[in-house]
Amino acid sequence: MWFKMINETFCCGNCGKEIEIHPEWSARNHCPYCLYSKHLDKDFPGDRKSDCEWLMSPVDIDYKKNKWNMIKHRCMKCWKEILNKVAPDDEFLEFVKKRNKTV
Ligand SMILES: [Zn+2]
Ligand SMILES: [Zn+2]
Repeated sequence: MWFKMINETFCCGNCGKEIEIHPEWSARNHCPYCLYSKHLDKDFPGDRKSDCEWLMSPVDIDYKKNKWNMIKHRCMKCWKEILNKVAPDDEFLEFVKKRNKTV
C-alpha cells in the first residue's frame, strides 16, 4: 500500500519520505517533496475510483493566471494524465527549476 494511513501520514512510494496530511488540505494526493502521486482517481480528482494504484510522475506544470497552478501527473503504468492542484507547501519551485534544466 502506498498510502499507508498511520496517524494521518503516509509514505511516499517514490522518495520514501513520510508525509503529513495538510490540515487544511484533506485532498492532498501527492508528495510535497518529489511531487509524485498515486493513481487513485479515475474520472476526476478525488473520486478514488481507480484500481490502478501505480505511481504517477509529475510531468508538467500548468500555469494559470489568477488561478491555482496545476501539476500534471502521468501514471507510469497506464499513462493516464490527471491535473492536480499544487498544495501550499509543495516544493513546486524546485520541480520547475529541475524541469527547466532538462528541457
Ligand atoms: Zn516523494
Ligand atoms: Zn494508472
